[in-house]
Amino acid sequence: MPVMSSDDFSLHREDCGEFEDGMPVSSFPDEVNSIEDLDCDCWSEFDSLAEAN
Ligand SMILES: [Zn+2]
Repeated sequence: MPVMSSDDFSLHREDCGEFEDGMPVSSFPDEVNSIEDLDCDCWSEFDSLAEAN
């Protein structure tokens, strides 16, 4: 399940160390259309959003 950072609203995996506090979100926001829209390296092992969700 993705986690949205409380600081900058960036999306991360739950075990990512790049955010201090965040809120789990049940799915990616509509503006996220591909894995490239997720900026953090914690997503880099995934090839597609379907795998990451
Ligand atoms: Zn991250």
